Amino acid sequence: MIPFLDLKPQYQVLQQEILHRIKTVLEHGRFINGPEVTELEEKLAQFVGVKHALTCASGTDALLIPLMALGIGPGDEVITTSFSFVATAEVIYLVGATPVFVDIDLETYNLDLNQVTQAISPRTKAIIPVSLFGQTPDLETLEKICHQKGIFLIEDGAQSFGASLNQRYSGSFGTVGTTSFYPAKPLGCYGDGGAIFTNDSDLFTRMKQIREHGSEKRYYHTRLGINGRLDTLQCAILLAKLERYPKEMELRQLKALKYQKGFSDLQSRGLRLPNVLPQCRSVWAQYTLAHPKRDFIRSELEKLNVPTDIHYPRIIPDQPWYQSRLTQSHQSWPKARQAAQEVFSLPLYADLPDQVQDHIIDSVRKVCFNL
Ligand SMILES: *Cc1c(COP(=O)(O)O)cnc(C)c1O
Repeated sequence: MIPFLDLKPQYQVLQQEILHRIKTVLEHGRFINGPEVTELEEKLAQFVGVKHALTCASGTDALLIPLMALGIGPGDEVITTSFSFVATAEVIYLVGATPVFVDIDLETYNLDLNQVTQAISPRTKAIIPVSLFGQTPDLETLEKICHQKGIFLIEDGAQSFGASLNQRYSGSFGTVGTTSFYPAKPLGCYGDGGAIFTNDSDLFTRMKQIREHGSEKRYYHTRLGINGRLDTLQCAILLAKLERYPKEMELRQLKALKYQKGFSDLQSRGLRLPNVLPQCRSVWAQYTLAHPKRDFIRSELEKLNVPTDIHYPRIIPDQPWYQSRLTQSHQSWPKARQAAQEVFSLPLYADLPDQVQDHIIDSVRKVCFNL
């Protein structure tokens, strides 16, 4: 079976740099808060175009830490999308706030801005838009809305490190931007990891303290915190991977365009292709198609040795734990539910071999023409 994601070819290309970086850490022995942590943070801040980057233990902590630092909690509402990985909503409940889920725009699968405007109430403290599948929503407009209303904007950029909107990078919008370095994300480490981006130096200091058990200095804790640090070893691996990342973004773009070209005539067969807005550049965290006969197409593709995955088969408000705690009407997210029924993703990564991609394209064409 063709793997959905194969990280071995990337390791082969970067082996020398990665092993050299790991060896350096093993020799200096500063496994927590070592020099690679600050080196990576400086490089990430420069890449994204913000004053401060803070690495942390996961993309989930990257969302939890700013919510804690901004004092969001019980009685506060946080607006977010109904169609994302569960972590986006999980953190809202973890700080005791109430999520307000909005429906999506089926062109991009990102949250619908009209719905966001309608969902704002006097209790709204923050909006967490997700840059799903590698493309940002209209964060410029969201920035304006948030500024006008005095609401915090926290971009969940777990899938969009390196993406841009009108030449501005994902992570540089609003109050705070985040990302994840989970291995399968566009820029991944060899375990769990994440980062937070901001231009607000005061907020940065508070978030850094929260990452370190709320300590201002050693054994002196002025706020409630967590152990949210990223290991020096993971930072070292990311430093090696970051060097090649611009090239990998190019490669991902080429593979995505090849899919787009290979499938353009299948739109007449009811296949919906991913749509990147002209002002956006996607990093193609997922290459996600949609069709009403999704389940049949997937089973036919499996017979042809083509793996697919579903991002995501169930909207967050329909997850059992969340469903039983909803404050909104069950009917609020028809488009997100439609997406959950119809989407499926194909393998897309920088080192996806050409002949494998050709086989995937041929197979999808065959299946769709035989529907
Ligand atoms: C992966 C992901 C997260 C969580 O990141 P982890 O590093 O796995 O904690 C959050 N939001 C979205 C949209 C994600 O895809």
